[in-house]
Amino acid sequence: MPITPLANRPHDHSHCVHSALSEADALCAQKGLRLTALRRRVLELVWQSHKPLGAYDILGVLSEQDGRRAAPPTVYRALDFLLENGLVHRIASLNAFMGCSHPEHAHQGQFLICRNCHVAIELEQLSISDAIVASASEVGFSVETQTVEVVGLCGTCRSA
Ligand SMILES: [Zn+2]
Ligand SMILES: [Zn+2]
Ligand SMILES: [Zn+2]
Repeated sequence: MPITPLANRPHDHSHCVHSALSEADALCAQKGLRLTALRRRVLELVWQSHKPLGAYDILGVLSEQDGRRAAPPTVYRALDFLLENGLVHRIASLNAFMGCSHPEHAHQGQFLICRNCHVAIELEQLSISDAIVASASEVGFSVETQTVEVVGLCGTCRSA
């Protein structure tokens, strides 16, 4: 039986948002980083669902809901901060961002992206990243960062 990831299960998502934000608070306090109101709000928006969100969507919601005309560079800087500190991941193929649910340790993620509902599921398979590093080193390549993006159909969409 395959495991149903949280993103594919009906669940109280406010719980995900709440725990992501409190983890971010704790992490920033511990590292002496400033989680400004805007950075925190951008993180909250990225977490609004388990679907990666583009920078323009974030800008749109900010000006719509908060009535705040956030300048694009400010939002990009906030996203950079969140990326650098492992609080979000960038999904290059979608040009979008998703929240990381275990930002407390550095990791290379693998992402399963549903082409139908756009939910993204993060895997953390050391065997995959180790295999990439090993194969790369066979051709004399040294891996610095790796993001594996896999496109397909999630469990919910497959059974629909
Ligand atoms: Zn959730
Ligand atoms: Zn992650
Ligand atoms: Zn799906």
